[in-house]
Amino acid sequence: MRVVVAGGSGFLGSHLCEALLRRGDSVCCLDDFSSGPAANTDPLLRTSGFERLPCDVTAPFQVTGDVDAVVHLASPASPYDYQRHPLRTLAAGSRGTENLLELALRHRARFVLASTSEVYGDPQVHPQDEDYWGHVSPVGPRSVYDEAKRFAEALTMAYRRAEGADAGIVRIFNTYGPRMRAHDGRVVSTFVRQALAGEPLTVFGDGSQTRSFCYVDDLVDGLVAMLGTDLPGPFNLGNPSERTVLELADLVRRIIGSDAELRHLPLPVDDPVRRRPVIARARAALGWTPRVPLEVGLRRTVGWFAARPDEAGREGAWFLPA
Ligand code: NAD
Ligand code: UDP
Repeated sequence: MRVVVAGGSGFLGSHLCEALLRRGDSVCCLDDFSSGPAANTDPLLRTSGFERLPCDVTAPFQVTGDVDAVVHLASPASPYDYQRHPLRTLAAGSRGTENLLELALRHRARFVLASTSEVYGDPQVHPQDEDYWGHVSPVGPRSVYDEAKRFAEALTMAYRRAEGADAGIVRIFNTYGPRMRAHDGRVVSTFVRQALAGEPLTVFGDGSQTRSFCYVDDLVDGLVAMLGTDLPGPFNLGNPSERTVLELADLVRRIIGSDAELRHLPLPVDDPVRRRPVIARARAALGWTPRVPLEVGLRRTVGWFAARPDEAGREGAWFLPA
């Protein structure tokens, strides 16, 4: 297969590119390097079958040659990033999705949209299965991301129904691992960076809110499985093992052997209180199940950050000016 990976130089995208190349696919990575450094995929430029096309998928772009599949990962993804770049985020979900669906349709290629657990908003149903319609503020600070992804899902289903596109959706829950940006503001990268530096861990609110953390390798397995079907989904992809933010802070400190303090800061507006995926559908239809326990994945992540002190010291939180 020749797979176009939009957002392929990002955290998830670079791991996906590697997995596809490992199994013998060719990969065309599209990225504007706005939140994923080129360094993530520079080493792949020496791998046969890999090419990289610097471009913004919300503007016209051209991919030449065969295309068998398109994966759309190109969007600001952390709350820190998307709230600083609201218009880019809305464009990535709308124009970016449309451009990539058109590319897939022209080639009769498989299309997979990387949607998110954020389509469930601050859920009033727990845990969340795919039939839940969500509880999203259309005007709050997170809406640029949540609504962009909801629109992207609607667009994907419209192309499938009206145009016969072989398009499907996965809803990704909080995923962590090597190559997260140290300053992306997400909780795992932030706690690991702070604990390694001996700084206080910034807990928003009282830390009783929950998330369910999936290791990146597991998530990539799910994306690859989705590429291999013609199913529409949506499928939740995530690890159902649910933790409070305080539990995560304790685990990170224990792994690092840190006695860093906790610093409580105000809870951000509309921060979801609880989040845990039901993954029965992905298990049954994709034969997919996450395998890496949180402690194992965190140890790998800590090891990666610990080996890159420069990364953690880098002040820039965003590669483009806000
Ligand atoms: P990331 O920021 O590391 O990756 C996004 C990549 O897309 C970056 O390389 C960025 O430069 C690129 N990009 C952004 N806008 C672009 C544009 N207009 N044109 C071309 N390239 C563009 O984030 P990630 O965590 O790897 O997330 C990847 C995708 O998965 C995103 O769509 C995100 O919404 C989704 N997702 C991720 C998670 C998670 O926990 N990591 C959870 C839910 C959904
Ligand atoms: N969080 C925190 N301290 C931080 C960053 C995040 O307590 O320094 C909390 C945040 O309020 C949320 C959870 O951790 O409840 C997960 O946040 P993240 O930004 O990683 O992902 P999302 O909110 O998109 O699930």
